Amino acid sequence: MTRSLGGAELATSIRDDASVAAAALTDLGIRPRLAVVLATDDESTAWYVRSIAAAAKRTGILCDIVDLGASATTGQLHGTLVELGHDPDVHGIILQTPLPDGTDLDALREAINPAKDVDGANPVSLGRLVARLPAFAPATAQAVIALLDHHGISPHGRTAAVVGRSTVVGSPVAHMLVQRNATVTVCHRHTTDLAAGTRDADILVVAVGIPGLIIADHVADGAVVIDVGTTATADGRLLGDVDAAAVDGRADALTPVPGGVGPVTTALLIAHTVDAAATQHAQTRTDSVLAGFRSGV
Ligand code: ADP
Repeated sequence: MTRSLGGAELATSIRDDASVAAAALTDLGIRPRLAVVLATDDESTAWYVRSIAAAAKRTGILCDIVDLGASATTGQLHGTLVELGHDPDVHGIILQTPLPDGTDLDALREAINPAKDVDGANPVSLGRLVARLPAFAPATAQAVIALLDHHGISPHGRTAAVVGRSTVVGSPVAHMLVQRNATVTVCHRHTTDLAAGTRDADILVVAVGIPGLIIADHVADGAVVIDVGTTATADGRLLGDVDAAAVDGRADALTPVPGGVGPVTTALLIAHTVDAAATQHAQTRTDSVLAGFRSGV
């Protein structure tokens, strides 16, 4: 039997800690506020955004869903992100993908104020992460590592395979695993023999978005498998990238979908927002002290 590596318990503990900090900030007159910008009718996205809003509510932080509609332009999205970046009452910003065809995602990511980039989407955040400098890591990538930690699975000295190389999940996860001293293979859509890349890995992380892509042939006996995939079906179910029935008994452990990486990701987004609110508050106080100091010189 393959163990199920659930994320609910970890998500609750992250939210509980965030909730205590959020209440303390609220007492100081700072109510942490997250803005989620979206421009799609995609059902998986709607599901995910609802889960973020629910987690925010449970933690006592504010969450604005800024829905610009499926025909939003780069200019509109850019203007909104810049405005939110300047708004002192907004502490965290998430730009939700997918975006309408033809929008310039790279330019939009760069428009997210790095101090509020709670999902590590700005290339500045990613660069700092790779350079091992303090930054908000993409929440999904961090959730993968947090789940391993929580379940006592150390990547140190182990082999890991990451399927998917997106800048929001696959690439940062691969870097974070290397930083945890794993030896990492990255597979992607041009990998000709996927099983050859994955079947010797002690830890297999799959972030592709193709339900059931991973079957027993891809998995080493006793591997730990982290399924990041979340594809929503028309009848409201959520499917992972791993065929759980096919790998049952072969993998030592597998994260469920839903209920694995997802809840930890949303909890981390909330925790990052509280963190960002605290940092911005401290910065504002420092700025005001410095302003007073300079005017006295
Ligand atoms: P996400 O944001 O969930 O990471 P993306 O759509 O941005 O998803 O990226 C999907 C990733 O999956 C890409 O890096 C792509 O190369 C990888 N991928 C797509 N199809 C396959 C496949 N058949 N085998 C391996 N990797 C794949």
